[in-house]
This record gives sequence, structure tokens and C-alpha cells, in this order.
Amino acid sequence: MSTHSEVRDSLDDLLKKGWDVDPLIQDVTLGKVRDMADRTVMVSSVVFHIPYIESESRYVLWKCHWPDCTNCCERQGRLPLTSDDLITIGSGLKYSKTSEFIAAETLTSTWSIQDQAGSAMTSINLKRSDTETADDDGTRIPCRFLGGDGACTLHPGRPGVCYLYPFMTWLENERGFPRIHATFQFTGDCPGFYLGGSIDEMRGVLDEYAAIIADYNMAHARTAREGFGASSAG
Ligand code: SF4
Ligand code: SF4
Repeated sequence: MSTHSEVRDSLDDLLKKGWDVDPLIQDVTLGKVRDMADRTVMVSSVVFHIPYIESESRYVLWKCHWPDCTNCCERQGRLPLTSDDLITIGSGLKYSKTSEFIAAETLTSTWSIQDQAGSAMTSINLKRSDTETADDDGTRIPCRFLGGDGACTLHPGRPGVCYLYPFMTWLENERGFPRIHATFQFTGDCPGFYLGGSIDEMRGVLDEYAAIIADYNMAHARTAREGFGASSAG
């Protein structure tokens, strides 16, 4: 979870790079907007929580600026892998055994999750640089898989968590069944947020991400079942 000063630093870096971030979006990112409501919209199996600024009658919406922007790959804090990722990326990097891939290309860390309960997560993380050590966990460094053309050299086998950004997702118990929820994470690194009058403006994005988020939750649950990661309440 990013601290307030880390978000401030990330936002400053984004502005220095010349991205024109609406002042109100900057305030949202820094947690300064007090009259923000949580509006929900259900898309396929996912409940999206979209921030709504009451005094402005505006939603905070999002679209990706890639390939003009590669900022999330230039300032990567951690790349937790699902068990599916371990197999896909391990074989993509020519390891015949997943155990060899894990030993050479990953680090394990325990970190706090951005939720109300202060939960902790233990995950196997893809090294973002060849020289990364456990001390670098959570620090923002350029990812070694970012190609000169702005494309990810692992694509389409890049980590599930990279597909997810800038959304975060969690499960809630709904009458005995798990319900998938998702919202934005405001890390200060993404210039894609904008203000809009209707959630319908990003309907295509929500349709696309509902599938990505549902797949990620299934992969995440498999990862915990297979013992490659764990979460616990704080
Ligand atoms: S693995 Fe690919 S998509 Fe993920 S941070 Fe690295 S370059 Fe970006
Ligand atoms: S998700 Fe945000 S930071 Fe990443 S490439 Fe798209 S616009 Fe840039």
C-alpha cells in the first residue's frame, strides 16, 4: 500500500513528465476531496465502485494512454505472481522447471494490502530488475521487461497484476457466495483518470476489465489453494 508521501512523489513525477492532470483529479489522488460518493455499477460478474464528486456532479473515470504512456511499467513497485503466472512466465523465459524459475527470477515478500482490515499478503514476486533484492520490495523501479517500443516483452504472458492496474479487486460474501468487487487504486502513477458526466463514457473499458478482473480473482484463488501465496487479516 502506497503512503501519502509516496503518492505525492509519484504524482509530482507524473507532472514533471508533462502529463496534464486535472487539479481536481490531483486532489482525488491525494485524498483531499471530501464530498466523494461511492457509486456502484454491476458489469458481468463484477461490482465496480466508481468515485462520484457530489459538488461537481462528476465521476472519476479512466482510460489507458498506452503506448503514449508506459508510466506504470517505469515505476513498478512489486509484481506478485499467480500460480498461472509462474507456469506461463517460467516457460516463456525458457525454464523447464517452475522451481528453477522461482529460484532464479522471483523474490518472496510479505506486504500489507490496501483494505480496511489491514490484511497482510505473502506473495512470490517477479524480479523487476536482474539485480533486485528483498530490500527493493515496494520501491518504484523500471521493469526490465519494458521494451524500447513501450511494449511488454512478456506480452501476452505478462503477470495478471499488470493487466489489472489501475484497478484493485477483492471478494465479499454475498448471501454465502463470493462476489467480486473492484475499484481504482490511486497511486499517483497513472495519467488516465479524467472527470466525466456518466459512467457510460467508460462502459467499453468496464466490459473489458470485468473479464480481466474475474479471471484474476480465479487465478488468485487458485494461487492460495496451491500454496503459492497467502493472505491474513491484520
Ligand atoms: S511485466 Fe510487462 S506489463 Fe508488467 S510492469 Fe513489467 S513491462 Fe510492464
Ligand atoms: S495504466 Fe495508466 S500508467 Fe499504465 S500505461 Fe495506462 S495510462 Fe499509463
